[in-house]
This record gives sequence, C-alpha cells and structure tokens, in this order.
Amino acid sequence: MAGMRAPYLEGLNAEQREAVEALDGPVLVLAGAGTGKTRVLTTRLAHLLATRKAWPGQILAVTFTNKAAREMRDRIGALIGGVVEGMQWLGTFHALGAKILRRHAELAGLRSDFTILDADDQMRLMKQIIVAEGIDEKRWPARQLASHIDGWKNRGLTPDKVPAGEAHAFANGKGGELYAAYQARLKVLNAADFGDLLLEVLRIFQEHPEVLADYQDRFKYMLVDEYQDTNVAQYLWLRLLAQKHKNICCVGDDDQSIYGWRGAEVDNILRFEKDFSGAKVVRLERNYRSTANILGAASGLIAANEQRLGKTLWTEANDNEGDPIKIASYWDGEEEARAIAEEVEQLQRNAHLLRDMAILVRASFQMREFEDRFINLGIPYRVVGGPRFYERAEIRDANAYLRLVAQPDDDLAFERIVNKPRRGLGDVAVQTIHRLARAENTTLFRASKMLAASEELKPAARRALASFIEQVDRWRALVPGMPHTELAEIILDESGYTEMWQNDKSADAPGKLENLKELVRSMEFHETLAGYLEHISLVMEMEQSDTADKINLMTLHSAKGLEFETVFLPGWEEGLFPHQRALDESGLAGLEEERRLAYVGITRAKQRAYISFAANRRIHALWQSSIPSRFVDELPKHHVQVTESAMAGASYQNYGQSRFAQDFAQNSNYSSPGWRRAQANTEMTARTRPPAYEVHADLVATSDPAAESYGKGERVFH
Ligand code: ATP
Ligand code: MG
Repeated sequence: MAGMRAPYLEGLNAEQREAVEALDGPVLVLAGAGTGKTRVLTTRLAHLLATRKAWPGQILAVTFTNKAAREMRDRIGALIGGVVEGMQWLGTFHALGAKILRRHAELAGLRSDFTILDADDQMRLMKQIIVAEGIDEKRWPARQLASHIDGWKNRGLTPDKVPAGEAHAFANGKGGELYAAYQARLKVLNAADFGDLLLEVLRIFQEHPEVLADYQDRFKYMLVDEYQDTNVAQYLWLRLLAQKHKNICCVGDDDQSIYGWRGAEVDNILRFEKDFSGAKVVRLERNYRSTANILGAASGLIAANEQRLGKTLWTEANDNEGDPIKIASYWDGEEEARAIAEEVEQLQRNAHLLRDMAILVRASFQMREFEDRFINLGIPYRVVGGPRFYERAEIRDANAYLRLVAQPDDDLAFERIVNKPRRGLGDVAVQTIHRLARAENTTLFRASKMLAASEELKPAARRALASFIEQVDRWRALVPGMPHTELAEIILDESGYTEMWQNDKSADAPGKLENLKELVRSMEFHETLAGYLEHISLVMEMEQSDTADKINLMTLHSAKGLEFETVFLPGWEEGLFPHQRALDESGLAGLEEERRLAYVGITRAKQRAYISFAANRRIHALWQSSIPSRFVDELPKHHVQVTESAMAGASYQNYGQSRFAQDFAQNSNYSSPGWRRAQANTEMTARTRPPAYEVHADLVATSDPAAESYGKGERVFH
C-alpha cells in the first residue's frame, strides 16, 4: 500500500482527506452546506473497513434518516467494492436505540417484543392517564403534557430527575406524577415511545456499568452526521459510548440547526471540544453542490443571523455562475401550484428528470395543492419523509390488527379496533374491560379474557368478546407457519374490516380499499410480521425501493442533507415562513431557526432555485391576504431575478418598499391581525384535515424523520 493511495481517497480535497484519514481520536468537522461532510463520513467508514481498523460490527454510524442510512450503506459498498455484510450499527438514533433496548429490554421492565408507540398512540395514552387522575382535560390537554414529557426525555430526564419547578408547569404540580404514571403504564403495556428508545438505553447504561462497558468495547469507531441537530439525551448517549476508545467523528453545520423546537442543542458542538480534549477540528470551505448564485443568495440570507459560529464558503465561480434565483409572486396558492407545475413540465420537455426536482414546503398543508395539480396533469410525484401513507386511518386500523396479533398486550391497538367493525361491543362493555384492566393492573386483552369467562357482561356482548378473542388467538397461532402477507389478508377478511369498507357508500371508501391492498403489498418488502411492524413504527418514509421518475414533494425539515438539480420553494409569506408560531414561541431565536431553515432550503439546489409567494392563501374555505416573507427581502439582489407573474396580485415592487419592514419597525414582535387570523385557521385546519396531514400541518415535520429524521424520520415523525 505504501505510496499508493486508495482509489476512494482520490476524489477528495486536502481538508476532506485530512478528516477521512484522522481515524484515531476525536474529530469534529464543522462546515457549511454542500462541502462534503456526509461524503467525508461515508469515505471515512469505507477507509476504516479497507484498512481493517475495525470489523463492520464495531462501527457505530448515526444518520439523520433511515433513507440516509440506506444510501450510506450503498455508497460504502460502491467505494470499496461489493456488499458489506454485518454493518448492524448504521442507522438513526432511534433505530439504534430500539436495537439496543430490545437486547436488554428486561433491564427496562420490558419484554424484547415491546411495541413502539407513535405520536397518536402516545396522545391517547396520556389522555387516559389525565382522565384517570381526575384532572380536567380541557384545562390541561394531553398535547401539552406530551410536549413536556418529550422535552424531559430529550434532555435525558427520567421522572425522578424532573426539576420540581418544571413539574409544576402542568396541572398544578402534577406534571412529574403524570410522567411517572405514564412511564409505569408503558411498562404494563410492554411499550415504549420514541423518547424511551434513547432515554431507557441511557438509563440502562447508567445503572448497569457492565452493559455499558460491553458497548464501549464494541464500538471502536463512531461516526455522526448532522451533529448540530442532536439533543442532550443523544449527546449524553454518544459521550458515554465513546468514553473508552474516544474515536468519534461528528460532522455538522451550525447554520443548519433546525430542530431546536424539538430539543436539539447547537451547544453540543461547543461541548464536543470541551468533553473531548485535543479534538481535531476540520473546516471545509469549498462547496461542491451549488452554483455561485445559489450559494451567494444562501450565504447572504444566513448572514442576517446573529447566532452563528461563522464560516466562509466558496464554489468554483468561473466554472458555473448559474442562473439567478427566480422570485415570483402569485395571486394565490392555487396559481402558485399551477405555475410551478407548468415550469416542471417545461423542464421536463428540456430533458430534465422529475426525480432531480423537489418542491420544499414549510408546512405540509401546502402539499395538498401540489398533489392535486400533479394528479390532474398526470405528473408522477412522491411525498418524501411524510407519514402520508401510514398515517391514513384505514392503514392505522389494519396495523392495529397486526400489532394485536403480534403482541396481544398492545392496549392501544386493542382499543383502536375492538369494535371496528362494530361487533356488538358497546361503550358499556368497553368501559367494563377498561375498569377490570385497571383494577387487575393488567392489559385490556387479558381483562377481556377474564370477562368472557365471567357473568359480568350481557350475554350478547360476552359472546361478541369471546369470539373476538378467539379470532385473535387463532390468527396468532398462524403467525409462525404462514407468509405474513397472506395472514394479513386473512385477518382483514375474517375480522370483517375489509367488508366494512366494501359496504361503505362514501366517496373515499374505494380509495381506502386500494390502500389496504397496497398495505399488504408493501409488507412483501419485509421478511416477517415483526420486521414489518418494526419498520412502520420507525419509518414514516414512502416506498423505499421506488426508483421511478417522480418529482419530490416534502417539508423543508425532511429535505436536510439531500440535494436536487432544481428546487422550488413556495409559500415564502410572513406567518407561514417564518412561521408565526416559531416567532410567538421563541422570538428572535425562533426567527433565526426559521432563517436557517430557509438556508437549508436554498442550499438543497445544485443548478436552479425558485422562490415564490402568494398574495392570498386559502386555508380551508377562508381567504387570507398575506405579505411576502422578510427572507425574500434579505436575499442579496444581485443573486436573484424577479419574474412578474401575469396574474400576480402582490407585486414585488410593492413589496420592495417593504411593507413588512415598516410593520416590523412599529412592532418588533411582529404580528399583523391578518396573520393572526390566518394562523388560527391554520391550526383549525390542522385539526379538521384528514389524518394524512394532521401531524404535519403546523411546525411539525417529524419522521420523523422523523421523523423522520434523527428518528421519526419522521415521525416525525418523522
Ligand atoms: P449538507 O450540509 O447539505 O448535508 P454535506 O456537507 O454533507 O452537505 P455532501 O452531501 O457530502 O455535503 O456533498 C455535497 C455534494 O458535493 C455531493 O454531491 C458530493 O458528492 C459532492 N462532493 C463532495 N466532495 C466532493 C469532492 N471532493 N469532489 C467532487 N464532488 C464532491
Ligand atoms: Mg450532509
């Protein structure tokens, strides 16, 4: 090898190579968008394997989404030739946490087949606990409790560690108690929520040094992408695991920190240098992704932020100046969608592929108009990172059946479908089941068994219950011997669930039946029922093996780390972007996070970017007039080109006088009455829209990715 450089190192610049080759000791790569941070991380992993520094199973690599994990796996294979077996520890924090927790479930009071609850289940459970404690649910809504509990979990706080003052913030000091009750209930249900996937592992590490030591030994090398968006719990987790070998490499960009509202702390970047003394810090300054105009516009915008670590970026300017960013105004959201769809078709005619284009929205309710337009025109599209498909009510019902069969103690699944379709179990019967479960401190399914064998229920209800239990037990017995797709069909048939929709005369029933078919089809991608269920609880991303040419539609939050030739950024209006809620809740910090989000959006583009705003936005049946986002104003003029739309109601000239700037000068905590109203309506929309959009309609862009995304990709989760 001496003197000869491995081929995968060839394409790197000097700084990148330095970051790749510094395999031992802590390394922090701090660099702007498109400078090759992810590429460095991937190459570093390949380098570790190629130089036999570690076995695949000794490397822990954290990505922000499941999709990113898959891509990284593929690229490593391409870099060193062939498929790499045994890379078991490459994934999101949540996926990795789930894996460790399943191995040591008993130390957390769970069994290894525990269920992972999604936000919806979580909310229902909290509601039950609030009611059971006799607290006025109207005054102290479950949503608020959920956000407290999530916040505590993000900071690594178990119920006993919640500061007394904070526990007081909910239900006159009962917050801490409710948190404890919620955790206890999760254990009875053999369930964990997303926060637990990290928190419980953290606790196991703290309470069982021998378990921690085992993992510390195992992970000789650790790699973390999108480090700026880790929360405290994640940071503690990493720090504990890296304690022995101290070979940890984190890459990030403080200007792309966009999950502060979910507990991420940019300070983790500063902490790193303190906790890992002698850490090597590498800065990358050359951007390989975007044209000079795109980079110039993005850099100019982010310069308005005060909270920055600061850095310079350059691109091969003479090589490609590129087009200026096009800015257009439209009469309303519909016209905006129509114009963008036309531009998409125009690009297509000029031989651009749909898959190289993306529409990035601030709030997912904006997607509706684009989806409608694309469906009308027959433009294939995919929604990325959104819980669109799996969040549908019928899909959730079907999944509840599957969950119950896999794990009968899953109360939330039981509750969801016990009387769906109606099988003669009225409210009274269901309440009786609940009461008995509470009294016996057991699960609904077990309580039902007791009830079916007693005289407590009326004969009709008892028979209905007994036959339901018998069905579940019978399906459960089929699990080992039958392909899970076939089993799913049997369950949907025999339960009467499919029939329920066949008999339904409403307009959306046929679509629901199609979705159920699609669900069974999607299960083919997984080997087992358990594997499938794990997937849907962790992944909210759309079909993974979908390589067809489709335009990408997603929220700005889920676009992190991605890149496209062409990017459309619609809806740049005050109140929508920056989002009013971010301003209301977090003031200047909220505004700066929104600006970073705009920076993330623009820097996704390689060749072309379009920014637009509408003079009127229809939110449900109500029209709201709007003014252009201050971010439009902040773009350096020499990198943008204003294109006047024929039907435009809001002209850029008008706005150029910056109506906004005047308003803002008068009232630094900006809030026009019009936007307040619009906001109220957005929130109303969030509640009344179909479930597909519920989760995302406000600030949330979880799958989570959180969620997606360090987890929910989702969920986020997205
Ligand atoms: P982000 O902050 O958006 O996550 P990043 O810093 O992770 O960006 P990458 O996605 O790794 O950047 O790289 C951006 C683009 O530049 C990719 O297309 C990548 O392949 C390309 N690139 C990175 N380094 C080089 C290089 N040395 N030579 C050529 N292309 C490169
Ligand atoms: Mg990246």
